[in-house]
Amino acid sequence: MTDCLFCKIVAGEIPSQTVFEDDDFFAFRDISPKADTHLLLIPKKHIVNLDDLQPEDEALMGKMMLTVPKLAKQENLEGYRTITNTGAKGGQEVFHMHFHILGGSELPGF
Ligand code: 5GP
Ligand code: ZN
Repeated sequence: MTDCLFCKIVAGEIPSQTVFEDDDFFAFRDISPKADTHLLLIPKKHIVNLDDLQPEDEALMGKMMLTVPKLAKQENLEGYRTITNTGAKGGQEVFHMHFHILGGSELPGF
């Protein structure tokens, strides 16, 4: 998708502090961190949000979930919070699906 901020980050057109990349996923530090460690994990495929998932995305989503603890380990997080906002009313501001991974200090109650 040409006019998507996170697609541009994957393509290297917008710089980011990349922490992980493989064939399917890209992870980078949030520009406005809400915790000591605040990562964004995204699929390289442009998927808008959970509501946009198709049956053929099942394996990709499984792999995405398995990537979360890999990143947490890489960042030495003992505990962490994973959030994905869906839709403007769900707090989503960037419409390319992403998992927030927050940790690094004691997180407040949710
Ligand atoms: P959302 O509100 O859509 O769940 O989260 C979007 C996140 O993207 C926000 O936490 C915001 O700080 C982050 N963000 C927005 N623009 C950029 C950017 O250009 N670079 C990086 N690294 N993060 C961004
Ligand atoms: Zn995109």
